[in-house]
Amino acid sequence: MIYDVIIIGGGVTGCSIARTLSKYDLNICVIEKEAEIASGTTKGNSGVVHAGYAAQREYTKRYLCIKGNKSYTQAAKELNFPFERIGSFVVALEDNQIKELGEERKKGTEDGIPGLELILDKKKIKEMEPNLTDDVVGVLHAPSAGLVSPYELTFALAENAATNGVKFFRNHEVVKIKHQEYTFTVRTYQGEFQAGNLINAAGLHAARISKMLGLDYFSIMPRKGEYVLFDRNAIHLNKILFPMPTRVSKGILVCPTLHGNTFAGPNAQNITDREDISTTTAGLKEILDGGRKLVPNLPLRSSIRNFAGLRAVPDTYDFIIDNTDIYAFINVAGILSPGLTATFAIAEKVVEFLELLGVELNVRDDYNPIRPKPERFKDFTKEDLDKKIQEDPRWGRIICRCETIPEKEIIDAIHAPVGANTVDGIKFRCRPGMGRCQGGFCRPRVIEILSRELNKPYEEITKRGEDTNILIGRTKDIALKEISRGVSKE
Ligand SMILES: Cc1cc2nc3c(=O)[nH]c(=O)nc-3n(C[C@H](O)[C@H](O)[C@H](O)COP(=O)(O)OP(=O)(O)OC[C@H]3O[C@@H](n4cnc5c(N)ncnc54)[C@H](O)[C@@H]3O)c2cc1C
Repeated sequence: MIYDVIIIGGGVTGCSIARTLSKYDLNICVIEKEAEIASGTTKGNSGVVHAGYAAQREYTKRYLCIKGNKSYTQAAKELNFPFERIGSFVVALEDNQIKELGEERKKGTEDGIPGLELILDKKKIKEMEPNLTDDVVGVLHAPSAGLVSPYELTFALAENAATNGVKFFRNHEVVKIKHQEYTFTVRTYQGEFQAGNLINAAGLHAARISKMLGLDYFSIMPRKGEYVLFDRNAIHLNKILFPMPTRVSKGILVCPTLHGNTFAGPNAQNITDREDISTTTAGLKEILDGGRKLVPNLPLRSSIRNFAGLRAVPDTYDFIIDNTDIYAFINVAGILSPGLTATFAIAEKVVEFLELLGVELNVRDDYNPIRPKPERFKDFTKEDLDKKIQEDPRWGRIICRCETIPEKEIIDAIHAPVGANTVDGIKFRCRPGMGRCQGGFCRPRVIEILSRELNKPYEEITKRGEDTNILIGRTKDIALKEISRGVSKE
């Protein structure tokens, strides 16, 4: 089969483009190298839907961020992903920073950001955010800023795209591309795919994909950002708190999550390894020192996890969204922050490019923009829950005690369109392993459920795909094998 469009990369960018294009009568597929979608930069970031004042005016990312932010209200209704506009503060700790905040407010308002407000009344600021440092002298309040769960957004986009006919091929790494007579042949270790239009949304690897077609006009470097995540009862914030920005970074923020936790981070380290998401003691210290300038009582003993994400930083410092010199090859690369916020606007831009290329964009008769809300134990009333458990006892079998996740939610996550097939896939879809014990209790049960539902032996269930196997065999089988080989005695 020759597809109309192949999208390389199943991060938020690729999945958002897939979902937007799934409205049209086109054959589309997404090719992703990892076992799960949302495994790259999309998995490790701050999850802030930015208001849009932060990027300089000369950058496209500023305008796509402002536009993308506005799309979130409708998209969250259609796709049922967690999203809340809780608003953000940029915090000035010195009098001479107020002028800068005033300028950002003026420019942001001119560019269409709603509700930007400079607040200098300390009492009012502390009422709005009691945990903020007493050293505050003023804040830029952006009420349109919000929180989203980046991977839950991406799963929702992919599910809706799949329901509207998009095919997803995971565990397929693109290794070579040929372009001949208006057709792209995309080679993976698992087989070849052909399409008339090719979209490169390969994140940190986008420059490599572009080079496969001989286009070597940009480079992308990884920049690591580490985070510290705090337990639910540690602290409660009302607002997303940013320090004064520098020219290259928004700095270390302190931020609530949609699931009731708080995090601090990210720092910024230029690195060379595109897979290095390790965390360090120095990073932890830098984040705590930075975070405590905004929230002095950040309690280290309540931290439950450190993690890191990798920014895909292009040499232009701006999004590279190009109808390239190769006909029908579109680069959507260098999608650094605020790429998550801009994602719906980026997808619309790709539609404009396809229109320019003459692709027929007829809306499908059966297009359904709605992705149903996944049923959650925590959302039920006691009466509903009793009824649910009577209908299906798996609602009453709690697998993750920290997060109160029953077996039924895990099974639904496995059998959803583009469903989970790894332990991390389950964790990011419905949260077993996200709580205080970090999977110590529930992981063996999750492996059991994956093994049963996917009809695979335990040993083939992985944490996050190839080479991340958790179990290597049954203890007795291994011992018996060793005895028969004479390695160990009975
Ligand atoms: C520390 C940090 C904080 C951030 N905070 C925010 C924020 O608060 N708000 C915001 O708006 N943005 C934020 N961002 C930016 C945001 O996370 C990114 O813009 C967004 O996730 C980029 O998504 P993507 O789909 O382009 O890339 P990715 O998520 O990396 O997706 C690319 C995909 O392509 C796949 N791929 C690569 N090579 C191949 C190949 N050869 N074959 C097949 N598949 C391939 C990868 O496996 C990956 O899944 C932050 C980023 C970081 C790192």
